[in-house]
Amino acid sequence: MTVGLILVSHSADLARGTAELARQMAPSVVIAAAGGTDEGGIGTSFDLINDAIGTADTGDGAVLLYDLGSAVLTAETALEFLDPDAARRIRIVDAPLVEGAVAAAVTAQGGAGLDAVASSASTAGLPAGDAFASPPTVAAVEETIADDHRHESVRATVSVVNPLGLHARPVAALIRSLVGLDVLVTLGRPDAPAVDLRAVLRVVALALRGGDQVEVVATGHDAAAAAAKVTALITGGFGETPDLPRRIAPAAMGAAPARMGNAPTGFRSISHPAPAIVDAVLAAVPGAPGLAIGPLVRLDRAPRQLAGAASPRGADLDAGREGARLDLAIASAAGRLLAGNQFEVAHAVLLADPELRAAAQPAISNGSSDAAAAWWDAVGLTADRLAGDPDELVASRAVDVREAGAAVLAELGVVVDRIPAKLDGAVVFADDLGPGEVPVLLERGAVGVVLSRSSTTAHAVIVARGLGLPMILRAGDEIGRLAAGTELVLDGDSGTVTVSPDHRTAEAIRGRIIDLARAAQLRTEAARGPVYAPDGRQIMVVANIGSLADAKAAVESGADGVGLLRTELLVLDRENYPDEDTQIADLTAIFEVLQDRPIVVRVLDAGGDKPVTALDLDPVHNGFLGVRGLRYLLAHPDVLQVQLRAIFRAAVGHHVSVMAPMVSVASEVLAFREAVRAALESLVADGLPHRPPDQIGVMIEVPAAALAADEICAVCDFVSIGSNDLTSYTMAADRTETGVADLLDPSSTAVQRLLDQLCRFAVASGTPVAVCGEIAGMTEHVLGLVARGVHELSVAPVRVPIIKELLREHAR
Ligand code: PEP
Ligand code: MG
Repeated sequence: MTVGLILVSHSADLARGTAELARQMAPSVVIAAAGGTDEGGIGTSFDLINDAIGTADTGDGAVLLYDLGSAVLTAETALEFLDPDAARRIRIVDAPLVEGAVAAAVTAQGGAGLDAVASSASTAGLPAGDAFASPPTVAAVEETIADDHRHESVRATVSVVNPLGLHARPVAALIRSLVGLDVLVTLGRPDAPAVDLRAVLRVVALALRGGDQVEVVATGHDAAAAAAKVTALITGGFGETPDLPRRIAPAAMGAAPARMGNAPTGFRSISHPAPAIVDAVLAAVPGAPGLAIGPLVRLDRAPRQLAGAASPRGADLDAGREGARLDLAIASAAGRLLAGNQFEVAHAVLLADPELRAAAQPAISNGSSDAAAAWWDAVGLTADRLAGDPDELVASRAVDVREAGAAVLAELGVVVDRIPAKLDGAVVFADDLGPGEVPVLLERGAVGVVLSRSSTTAHAVIVARGLGLPMILRAGDEIGRLAAGTELVLDGDSGTVTVSPDHRTAEAIRGRIIDLARAAQLRTEAARGPVYAPDGRQIMVVANIGSLADAKAAVESGADGVGLLRTELLVLDRENYPDEDTQIADLTAIFEVLQDRPIVVRVLDAGGDKPVTALDLDPVHNGFLGVRGLRYLLAHPDVLQVQLRAIFRAAVGHHVSVMAPMVSVASEVLAFREAVRAALESLVADGLPHRPPDQIGVMIEVPAAALAADEICAVCDFVSIGSNDLTSYTMAADRTETGVADLLDPSSTAVQRLLDQLCRFAVASGTPVAVCGEIAGMTEHVLGLVARGVHELSVAPVRVPIIKELLREHAR
């Protein structure tokens, strides 16, 4: 049974945008948009509605949602012209258009009947008001559910595994895992108030972190399946466990560990006394390393209320029209953000929180504010509440809510830009920053940033580290109270600010900044040249990358090319799997940065600890020993064909090779070659410009492939050793399980014997052998690999100069 959906709006854009949003949650539901007049103007059209009914009702009926009351008249007229049976299958439901559409679509996707779909639409949208006041208890929520659904509940208590716990991205993953299920899920600490999973901000505000217990209650037809999915995701750590300590380790930033706290307890609420300026020095928390000196420029907070013409309060406002404008703006902002980077995707998830939209409704309904003002008030209220939370991670989401909110405002034609146009050489002080503001600061000339709040894991801080903008955190307000223009020295490594240094100190600091820049430049320049093995062969030191930023870092580091582009990292968090054109755009941007350097593009390695969201992978079926990597692609030839076509089309003018992950036997390599041939043939048939791959290679990361490397080398152009998985599979030790971390040692006898054997096979057959696992960047292993005949080491961009330096020291 599939109930359809008809979305009637006075605006064609609103109907289309809402339909698109709902389709993301319910891909198999037929959703027909009937927006605007026949001529495309504002209004409704009998013919368009009639057509939409015909499309959406495939025999099981359809639910019709509308934006403004007058649309009902047209819809009812359309029903009068249907035969009585068909008319009975259409339910016109009075509900908020966007929330109603999403709720109805999700319910229909689960195969629910017409009445259930209509009822889910009409109850969509949580009540407006105090978003964080007195959330219902688990018992109270269950009572409501029991009345509504009369189904048994499934309750489970599990431990949160990933150190950062249930922040926005994991919550989004949980919500997505329930698409199509008829269920209501609440989360809470045991014996504490529970919250509806769909209310993203409330769940984030629970501040559940690694080691905490969380009680999951699922109620509805699919309670058991939903509880299983949610608990599996939570106990699986959302793929974050191995990454986080690396990303935020204080040592990695050269920071002062004592002030940072230790993971995972360091993420919990810590009450820091506000630092004070003592002897002209303020000691705070290191955020991003580097030294800077410059005059203080204070960034005002984003305006709490919108002023002037942009926000006509009390004017002659049409509540229905303002509500519809806001819905459209939210839908288009979310759509735009979903196509963006990981932080933007997280912002889109915040916009899907029905409480945020609901909080804007009262001011719109009573005519006191237009869409922009009502929305910005709701955003400000929510952000302020989050900012006041004692848990630093929850508090740091305030800035994300403001940034997501600002994206909606921009759709409404109101731009909130608090960053001055010219910041030449300034040290900027701000309460907090959104991740999108950091590149803007850099572009406009800021040399350093002091934040009064924030945390080492805040997105803005991660972005600053990536861009090399020195930053210190949790500096309190004293710096902000200094006169604008006061000279400041910011040391992002030690987390200190020196106020009004004397002339000699200032000159010494400027000299040091120049020296540091020169040393970095020299290291990079030295890295640019070729390096050789002790036996005289040239060794390519290339980079492992997974993003455009990595590609830039690779070029700057002096890498000779790219030995591993992990394409799954380009799509990991995306809500929708990118189509061929989108993949071409992503790859082209990266290839252009790399110019004529050789590039090895690894086709999608989905599965294992890389749960590509949009492909809805199962943790067991697609786990480390399941349908992962090439196995997945051969089982989903459409995904592989689209990717290969995109690679070959983007490759025009570049030196691109392709490589398959997770190969076990030679027949899989042959199947991969066949897929490459088919993709090339289809491009020729379509008459599209493209460039065939320079070489076709495979990863050797499964012991079976290492042991039969002679058979594999016979059918491919090169091999690349994935020592991370090879070690894991050889030692039967999950890469993400800290309990067996000691076993994950590439120096172990078993792994070394496999490396010996597979390199011997490769060299004997004349097949070039590269290494792209972490072992390639480990100084203690480099010479051993090179001695075995390895010709290419592919390492993280920051390791390139280090590995080149090591090889130079040992060259003849
Ligand atoms: C490896 O397994 O060594 C490898 C490079 O692949 P990934 O780390 O992406 O699994
Ligand atoms: Mg691997």
